[in-house]
Amino acid sequence: MRFLALLTVLLTIALAFPRLGLHEGYTRMVFDLGPGTTYQVAQGDGTLTLKFQGIRPAADDADVDSPQVASYQVVSGKNGATVYIRLKPQVKVKTSLMQDGNGRRLVVDLLSSDKPQITPTSSKPTPSPKPRVQTDPDKKRIVVLDPGHGGIDSGAVGYVTEKAITLDVALRVRKLLQDQGIQVVMTRTTDTQLSTDKRTDLGLRADMANSKRTLFVAIHVNSSPGNSAQGIETYYFGDTMDSSLLAQVYRENGGGTLGQQLTREAQTVGQRLVSDLLAQANLVYSRRLAETLQNSMLSATGAVNRGIHSAPFYVIRNARIPAVLIEIGFANHPVEGRKLGTPSYRDTVAQSIADGILRFINNGASVSR
Ligand SMILES: [Zn+2]
Repeated sequence: MRFLALLTVLLTIALAFPRLGLHEGYTRMVFDLGPGTTYQVAQGDGTLTLKFQGIRPAADDADVDSPQVASYQVVSGKNGATVYIRLKPQVKVKTSLMQDGNGRRLVVDLLSSDKPQITPTSSKPTPSPKPRVQTDPDKKRIVVLDPGHGGIDSGAVGYVTEKAITLDVALRVRKLLQDQGIQVVMTRTTDTQLSTDKRTDLGLRADMANSKRTLFVAIHVNSSPGNSAQGIETYYFGDTMDSSLLAQVYRENGGGTLGQQLTREAQTVGQRLVSDLLAQANLVYSRRLAETLQNSMLSATGAVNRGIHSAPFYVIRNARIPAVLIEIGFANHPVEGRKLGTPSYRDTVAQSIADGILRFINNGASVSR
């Protein structure tokens, strides 16, 4: 079964054209070429055009939305293909042709040039998976806490208002972690939005999950159409086939048409991550973080276990560190909603989140994949 899964991943890697890697300071696109394939590269105003002869990849059209690349399109013709890459402003292009055995590949690195960046030192197309959590034990741990919603965006409303509960719990978690010597970065510390535009708001939060930090936890409160649902659930990034989960994903991604649009974009990222080994390794750690937090919250609160799921939440779509989104209870459940309204219960929840984070960080060194 594991072999089959690996085979599936390898096949997907072999078929992806281009293979995409999102890295600190640059986006890498790798094009696998046949023995007789030729190519030309032309850079225009905000666009990079690659013309290939002797290869017929599948047509593709995808939003990337990395700091360097907006989107790309693969147009396949009779004898070749053209790839249009829409670049963000101030991006430098570096191409190199790699050869190993019978294989050849064109590596296109798109680098931010507006500020000093870490540039790739090796032209290997895919770095070997290297989880962030378990490196230098003396390295400063930095936890990012994202209290969901805020300001004009109340989030779920029931016996409590989501934006107030998420902030209160996050502030409590911050205090508990700081007491243990952990540095904490908050996406917000007051009742405010990061932007009145929900896409920008979520984008700014997501940007804080960068590789200088150790892990990212978004805290949310749930609601259900009736008022019977209750319990705690934890998400890591990925796609889902479960339509009941998607309804909630739409809501957390901004609701309405925008929520659906951002969900589709996140799903596109999810499909691409399949061929990004580093991202796959990170998802393993994200799932482990989800399990650790979920177990800790359940044992402290005795709440209903709604499980651990993967789902295309926009705010954790590009995380390069273990990242999860937790739903700590239902605002509109008559019992749970009222519980969330009491400081002592919020303290219990916060303590269990902090405990889970500490356990994850401290076990990082002995974790095996
Ligand atoms: Zn929410």
